[in-house]
Amino acid sequence: MSKERPQCAKCPRILCEPDIASDLKPSFEEAPRFCPSKLKQDIIEKSLREYDRDNVREFARLASIQEFQCYEHTPDGIRTKIPRIEETMQFAEKNGFRKIGLAFCTGLANEARMVTEIFESSGFEVVSVCCKVGAIPKERIGIKEEEKISGPGWYESMCNPITQAEILNSEEVDFVILLGLCVGHDTLFIRYCRPPMTVLAVKDRVTGHNPLAAVYLSHSYYKRLRRKAKK
Ligand code: SF4
Repeated sequence: MSKERPQCAKCPRILCEPDIASDLKPSFEEAPRFCPSKLKQDIIEKSLREYDRDNVREFARLASIQEFQCYEHTPDGIRTKIPRIEETMQFAEKNGFRKIGLAFCTGLANEARMVTEIFESSGFEVVSVCCKVGAIPKERIGIKEEEKISGPGWYESMCNPITQAEILNSEEVDFVILLGLCVGHDTLFIRYCRPPMTVLAVKDRVTGHNPLAAVYLSHSYYKRLRRKAKK
């Protein structure tokens, strides 16, 4: 068995997205040795069979149609057309999802209100649950006084993503939207959430919830992010 690990992020050519006519076959002859399109043929074939399930195939088909509808052909070339929130609403409509579950962080309470207004104005029903639901003290998961954000001596509610997910599960929402949960809390939420789910925005406390800003600046103002790799 090959010891190569897939390294698509280091691929110089991205041959899996070829610029060829639809009656031609993509070739991986010149693909790098770490290419999973070459290395993982067995997994590719096995996982593709999942799309033979009617509901999976239909979901995937609608997702691709939605992707297509995010662009438009103009005399100047292909242009992007709609922001993600509109993409999300259109995709929900395509799937017949009417009851939306919104899982948000209290740090984005204003955003959650606006997102709710936007969805409701398009006729969706929105059920929302914040991360602090239950107001369970952080001591419940072993947080010490000196590990509280507000400082020792203050009541601090823990982020409670499992309850957040279970409440949305119990509401039998059609589709869940994640808004700004912390790293790790989102991991737990995703693990426990049963309905189909998408992410509208992730939290980044420093960049206005745009984590790629630090990535774009990682050769300049945020070069400390690369420090370890240089050693
Ligand atoms: S699948 Fe192969 S060709 Fe595609 S990005 Fe990964 S390494 Fe490159």
